[in-house]
Parts: sequence; C-alpha cells; structure tokens
Amino acid sequence: MSHIRTRTAVSPLHRSASVPPCPSVDGLVQILQPENPVYCLRPAAVTEAARDFQAAFPGDVLYAVKCNAEPTILRAIAAGGITHFDCASDAEVRLLRSMFAELHFMHPVKSRSAIRAAWHDFGVRDFVLDTADELWKILAETGEGARGLVVRLALPKGSAAYDLSGKFGAEPAVAAELLRAARPHAARLGISFHVGSQCMDPAAWTRAMKMAADVIIMSGVAVDIVDVGGGFPVLYPGSQPPPLAAFMAAIREGAAALPRGIKLWAEPGRALVASGASVVVQVQQRRGNALYVNDGVYGALSDAGAPGFRFPHRLIRAGSSRPGAAPQELVLFGPTCDSADVMKGPWTLPGDIGEGDWIEIGQLGAYGTALRTAFNGFDRALVTEVADAPLLVSPQNVTNAPRAA
Ligand SMILES: *Cc1c(COP(=O)(O)O)cnc(C)c1O
Repeated sequence: MSHIRTRTAVSPLHRSASVPPCPSVDGLVQILQPENPVYCLRPAAVTEAARDFQAAFPGDVLYAVKCNAEPTILRAIAAGGITHFDCASDAEVRLLRSMFAELHFMHPVKSRSAIRAAWHDFGVRDFVLDTADELWKILAETGEGARGLVVRLALPKGSAAYDLSGKFGAEPAVAAELLRAARPHAARLGISFHVGSQCMDPAAWTRAMKMAADVIIMSGVAVDIVDVGGGFPVLYPGSQPPPLAAFMAAIREGAAALPRGIKLWAEPGRALVASGASVVVQVQQRRGNALYVNDGVYGALSDAGAPGFRFPHRLIRAGSSRPGAAPQELVLFGPTCDSADVMKGPWTLPGDIGEGDWIEIGQLGAYGTALRTAFNGFDRALVTEVADAPLLVSPQNVTNAPRAA
C-alpha cells in the first residue's frame, strides 16, 4: 500500500559541522578542498545593504523573503534595521514567524489554509489581493482584528530584466473597484505594484506611482499605503545601474503626486542580498574552452543560464601561489545531464585552469541558492559564513578580469 507523503524539492543544505569558521574563502578552500559546491554567505554585506536602503527610503522597508531565505541572511537583514518581511507562502510565514514579528503576506493567490494559519497562528495582519475572489477568501478566513488589505496593481510591461507584469495585478479600473470593496474591511488599505526585477530605470517608479495616484483618485476612497514593490537593481558585470539615490529621488517625485498623508512601503529583495553570497564551484573536467563544474542552472546558477546574467568570478587554486596563465574566455557546463545546463558567460579565467581548480562566483545572494533544485541528485552543497569582502564588481573590473591574487 502506498502512503501519501509530502516532500520538499530540496533537502536542507547539507551543513558541514566540521567546517571551522573561516574568515576567507581562500582559507576555506585550502582547508576543505571541497568537491561539492560551497555557498559562502557574507552577512556583513547584507547588513550594510539593508542599513543603506532603510536609511535612503522614505517609508517602511519589507524584505522580500523569496529572494534568499537562509536564516543567516534573514538575521543579517534584521541587523541592518529592517523589521518587516514580505512573505509569499505558508512555509515562509512559518519560518519567519519563528524568528521575527512583522510579517506581511504579499502573494496575490493564497491557499485558504495558508491564510488561516497566517492570521490565527502567526499573527499576520496584512494581505495582498488582485481579484474580488481573493478579497472574499481573505475576509472569510480571517477573524476580528486590524486587517491590512493591499491591492496589487498591474503595470504595463517595462524594461526590467525580469518582467513581472504578466501574471499578477489588477488593471486600473478593477484595482479602483477593489479598493472601494476592500475599504470597509481594512484597518489599513494599500495599493502595491512591482516594476519588474533588476529594473534599471528610476522613472519606472515615478510612472507607476502616478498610475497608483490615478487609481486612488478613481476609487474615491482614502488609501493609507502605497507599496512601491521591489525591483531595485544591483551591479553585475556589464550591467551598471544608476545609484540608489536616483531611485529614491524618482520615488520622492512619484510621492508628490499622491494624496497627502500616504505612507510608503518598499519590498526590495535583490538589492539587499545580491552581494551576500558567492558560490565556490570545482572544475571536474576541461574540454577545449568548456569547463564542466559541479553547480549549474539547476543549482544556484540559474540566472547564468538562459537569462544570461554575468557574474564576477575568480580562480582559486589549491596550495600554490603559482600565477595563472593569461586570461581566456571560457564556457561553463553544470553537472546535470541536460544540455540546457550551460552558462555561456563568457567567463574570463587564467588559460591554464583545469580539473581540480575552483572558481568563486560572486553576486549570487539574490535568486541563487533560493532557486536550487534536486534535479539529477546534485543537491549536495556546503554552506558557511565568511568574513572577507564580497567579490563585488568595481568599476575597474567590469570587464570581468579575475581579482588580483
Ligand atoms: C519578487 C518580489 C519582490 C522582490 O523583487 P526584487 O526584484 O528582488 O527586488 C518584491 N515584491 C514582490 C511582490 C515580489 O514578487
């Protein structure tokens, strides 16, 4: 007889109890000589990014948990002064509630049991919706209390690296109707949007806030919160965004178009955590200009696959201080059998790189480890904290040259 079981796709990261705390990635590699990928967390970088964002944003900042839900990263966010968390699932609510207090359930389509548990067991009071069906569902599954309801507004497709306009959000006229319908049931009423992830254009926020202002006026009811979402971009090789201040200026401009007294929220993910993790992969074989490594698009490197993001990277070589040969452009293949498991880069690495060498790949704190799967059984990895500086892309190495050893 078969039993019904529930199972998560990825077993929790295998932590190595024997890894001594190691201040640097190089030290770690020399000690471990790791044959599985190693996720190196840099909580200090996350705390700094959280503090900077919180200081610059004229309102409440909610961290979008889906971007990276490692407890170390969550604690680093909190250490930077961010006390609100944007959750999208029952599992995120459960994890976060065991650590922090201020949770907001910001997914427009929720199961009834997830709403009930969030409200009754975990004290979550704010919920997003973009249809009347979801509004009635939330009202039916929550009880007495100061409910917060936030209407997600659809935006026209923009220029962000990841368009988020196709799936969620109510068209302006529907959003106005939802605001009217929700108002009598809401202690706090908000309107939210998402301009798309890694959005390089500050004016996208001004435009979206003007749309939100129009919807508020069209609704004829008082709105308490405008949530400007996430999407704030970070540095990747070949992709240098305007400074955070330009986005904040655009948001202040947008805020000027809103009725008085409205509070702002933001839900950044990527901008807070991208620099907070790197992955050390090992080269298992070289074939011409291709390196077969032990993590790939079904692991932490999915953005390096079809989306074609480039990441800062450098060679780490066991034991020796042997200088690397002249740099060469290479392609990486991940470990699974799927020929889509390829990361074209180009990855510029010393020309003599080969089996047994390691590559540290940076800026993987956002949507890196969070997107891992167990496909083909390649879900073994180590996770550890390091204290050295992130492999950030500074202006002098945007050409992706390996960091000087
Ligand atoms: C993913 C997501 C975010 C975070 O987006 P980033 O681009 O990582 O800043 C914020 N809000 C919602 C509703 C999201 O789905």
